[in-house]
Amino acid sequence: MIPVFVRLSGIDPETTVNQITAEQRRAVRQLLKNFTLTIEKPAPIEEAIVTKGGVHVKEINSGTMESVLVKNLFFAGEVIDIDGYTGGFNLTAAFSTGYTAGLYA
Ligand SMILES: Cc1cc2nc3c(=O)[nH]c(=O)nc-3n(C[C@H](O)[C@H](O)[C@H](O)COP(=O)(O)OP(=O)(O)OC[C@H]3O[C@@H](n4cnc5c(N)ncnc54)[C@H](O)[C@@H]3O)c2cc1C
Repeated sequence: MIPVFVRLSGIDPETTVNQITAEQRRAVRQLLKNFTLTIEKPAPIEEAIVTKGGVHVKEINSGTMESVLVKNLFFAGEVIDIDGYTGGFNLTAAFSTGYTAGLYA
């Protein structure tokens, strides 16, 4: 986002911080606070980070990750109907359910 903000601010990118005037600081503040994005369309599936949907958590024994419907069938990670914002939640879910499923399988 930095190059975008710099371009929209109209401030010369070569300007050093101590050269920025109070007026320019005010303009940057206004730009940041009033910045709007128009979502045109979702990115293609190839760029997707996480999938929604999958095996319902009620159909899984969370202590072992075994299916409550099919004996000796274990689930982990993306195949389960859980998802979170990017930032580690999905990896944590994949690692912890994978560990548990592996342990009990
Ligand atoms: C670009 C990107 C960025 C991400 N960033 C984050 C992030 O910052 N934080 C976060 O928490 N999560 C992030 N995620 C999500 C996270 O990576 C996934 O939720 C997690 O890796 C899922 O783990 P998984 O083991 O369930 O599935 P996967 O990691 O998809 O592993 C499935 C594996 O099965 C293999 N496979 C598929 N079909 C077969 C088959 N028929 N036979 C044998 N093997 C097969 C695949 O090759 C793959 O290696 C990101 C995902 C993407 C794509």
